[in-house]
Amino acid sequence: MRLRIAPSPTGMLHLGNLYSIIVNAIFCSKYNSKLILRIEDTDSQRNKFNVIEGIYNVLDKIKINVDESPKRLGLYGPYKQSERLHIYKFYINKLLKVGGAFYCRCSFKRVNILKKINLTLGEYPTYDGKCLNCKYSTGKIRLKVPRIGVYIGNYKTKWSNVDMQVLWNNSKPTFHFANVIDDQLMKISHVIRGRDWLPSLPKQVLINNYLGFKTPKYYHIPLICDKNNLKLSKRFNDIDFNGLISLGIVSEAILRYLISIVVDDDVNNISEAAFSFNLGRLKQQSIQIDQKRLIVINGICLSEFICDINGFLNSLIQERNINRVIVLCTKKSLILHDIYKLMCFIFWNYKMVKMIYMSSIEYLLLNMLLVEYKKQTDWSEFNLKKLHEKLSRYLGLNIRTFCTILTIVIGGRNNISLYDAYVIIGQASVITRISLILEKWYHQSNQHI
Ligand SMILES: [Zn+2]
Repeated sequence: MRLRIAPSPTGMLHLGNLYSIIVNAIFCSKYNSKLILRIEDTDSQRNKFNVIEGIYNVLDKIKINVDESPKRLGLYGPYKQSERLHIYKFYINKLLKVGGAFYCRCSFKRVNILKKINLTLGEYPTYDGKCLNCKYSTGKIRLKVPRIGVYIGNYKTKWSNVDMQVLWNNSKPTFHFANVIDDQLMKISHVIRGRDWLPSLPKQVLINNYLGFKTPKYYHIPLICDKNNLKLSKRFNDIDFNGLISLGIVSEAILRYLISIVVDDDVNNISEAAFSFNLGRLKQQSIQIDQKRLIVINGICLSEFICDINGFLNSLIQERNINRVIVLCTKKSLILHDIYKLMCFIFWNYKMVKMIYMSSIEYLLLNMLLVEYKKQTDWSEFNLKKLHEKLSRYLGLNIRTFCTILTIVIGGRNNISLYDAYVIIGQASVITRISLILEKWYHQSNQHI
């Protein structure tokens, strides 16, 4: 059997992504199957090169071994979608030829209004088929859905409930299309993925049928949600793997915590988990992140991995920066103890953040910065200064006041420059810290109402 994990490099992996990856890895270990890593990077505007490296790094840290990947080529590559465009082109033409797709020239605005009307009427937000019989030869390419609907086994999905998905736009496949083609050509036999993919199933089965492909077996697993049962995406729960690491959670604990959700058992690694794994017995309801349990498991891991604390401190400072930190702090110190005080910007702890004085302008500023920081591809002093100057002008703040507000992110005012600190602690940690500050502020202000 062959399974795949297919992250897209648009952001770092969070617990929800990792849960799905771990279920796949345990399945492969139990049934001696091959695990393939495919990078779904067709959405080039949102892709970041360093994020792909970040994905390898996370998989390495949680000890997920893949059999084939862009770095470990097998027979069915390339394993990056951006290198497979010629393949998709061949198959989209084939799909048009067999009558499984059609050109659509509707404007984005029209389709959007249509979807809004559908939603208001309580129906599925699907395309209405206006261009279905127009015989255009240019435009977006949409999937043709037969009037009789789509059958999966004996289960029928009505025509009006299956969207005539855009499969090709601006000379590129959308992920709905690329996904099906890749699974087929990479000989994927089982697809285990989050339940949020379920509405796409009829469309994917349809593409497979049109092209005469054998449809893989699909399994949809519950989603990891926050305490309000919302899919992971916002605020605290937005924190990705590196964010958790920068909060003092070790990668072993993240692995063990996620395994414990999958097999309901406390085991250390994927191969041990494979013994008690049963896909049919996975929890069916959405899974809420239990932060307390994650921290308890972390405590256990810490006591078992004391020898690795050194490595953890290194990763906190980011290995290559240790010397820089020492030089920086030593230069500004009179006695040795000053060095300790100055180094506090690394050991930042959100519990110590004093929130009482945070005004709404500070709240607004941090929110804007969070969005902007996430977009940065060059985390250098030069670039950050430029960004801060732009935002301070926009908000009508003088740049000194602006930077003073930001000292909350580096543990208060001290002699270390904001930019030195920012570059050393790194983009992921700064983003995590700001998310936590905003989360804390949000909770505190809600308590007062
Ligand atoms: Zn149309």
